[in-house]
Amino acid sequence: MMHTDNVLVRVENLTKHFPITQGIVVQRQIGAVQAVDNVSFDIREGETLGLVGESGCGKSTTGRTILQLHRPTSGKAYYQDQDLTTLKGEDLRRMRRFMQIIFQDPYASLNPRLTVGDIIGEPLEVHRIEKSKKKRTERVQELLRLVGLNPYFINRYPHEFSGGQRQRIGVARALALQPKFIICDEPISALDVSIQAQVVNLLEKLQDEFGLTYLFIAHDLSMVRYISDRTAVMYLGKIVELAEREELYSHPLHPYTQALLSAVPVPDPVVERDRKRVILTGDVPSPANPPSGCNFHPRCPLAEQVCQEEEPEWREASPDHWVACHLV
Ligand code: SF4
Repeated sequence: MMHTDNVLVRVENLTKHFPITQGIVVQRQIGAVQAVDNVSFDIREGETLGLVGESGCGKSTTGRTILQLHRPTSGKAYYQDQDLTTLKGEDLRRMRRFMQIIFQDPYASLNPRLTVGDIIGEPLEVHRIEKSKKKRTERVQELLRLVGLNPYFINRYPHEFSGGQRQRIGVARALALQPKFIICDEPISALDVSIQAQVVNLLEKLQDEFGLTYLFIAHDLSMVRYISDRTAVMYLGKIVELAEREELYSHPLHPYTQALLSAVPVPDPVVERDRKRVILTGDVPSPANPPSGCNFHPRCPLAEQVCQEEEPEWREASPDHWVACHLV
C-alpha cells in the first residue's frame, strides 16, 4: 500500500447526537444519544485507517456522518479542503461521487428485485456518467471483471450469489463512479472466515490499482490488523487511541486498547509471555448517559479518582501516536 502524507479526509470535533423523545401527541426531547462525541482525526491519501470498537460505540455513525448520510450535530468533515457539512443538494451530490460506502450486509444493501447489471449501473445512470445503455453495460461488465466475477452474470439477481460474491457486487457498485475514498463498514463481519481473506485481498488489490483511500470499520482489532496502515480505537463515541499499525499492536497505551488486544493471541511466544493482560469487567454504559470524566472509568482496571472527575486530553504521546488517558 502506497500512501502519501497528503490528508484526503479530515474530521474536526465531529459530534452526532440523536435525540431521545417522549410523548404520544406532542413529542418532547428528553435526552440525546451521544453516538459520536468530539472526534478528530485525518485520513491520508492512499492509506487505510482502521476504526475499531465494540458494537454501538459510534464507529458506523462516524462513517455515515463523514459522508453526510447523517448530518453532524456539530464539528466539521472535510474532503480535501471542502467542508462537507455546509454542502447541500447538487453540490453535495457532486462530492459524493468521490466518496462511497460498502456495507456490512451485502444482501440487505442490494435491491433483490434488480439485476446485478441494474444495481451496479444505477450510480452511472444517476450521475449521468454513461448515457448510452450499451456503454453502461460495457462498464458494468468491466466492473464485474475487476471484482473477480464473471461478466456474464450481469442479468442475474442478488439471491443467485453467495455471500462473498454479493459483497463483490457491493464493491463493484461502490467503484462504479471511480471514487477516491471508500468507507468499508464492517465489509467482512457477516462473511464466513474462509471468505473474509478473499474480500480483504480484493480490497487491497483495488486500492493499489486505483490509489484508493479507505476507512475500514471493524469490531475487533484482528480484522484490521493486516489491512490498516494506522488504526483508531473507539469507545462510547470517542476515539481513545490512534497510531501506526505496528506501534499500536506492539505498544498499546490505552487500557481499553490493551484489553481489546488481550483477546487477540500473539504469534511470538516471547511477546505473548510478557504482554500485559487487561480483562474488562461490566457492560458498555449507555451512550444516552455516558459516565463522567473518562467515560471508560467504570470498566477500567487502572481508574483513579481523577478519571471520574476530568476528561483526559487527546494528545500525541509519541510521534504519530495519539491517546486520551490520564495515566499515559
Ligand atoms: Fe482508565 Fe483513567 Fe485512563 Fe480512563 S483516564 S483509561 S479511567 S486510567
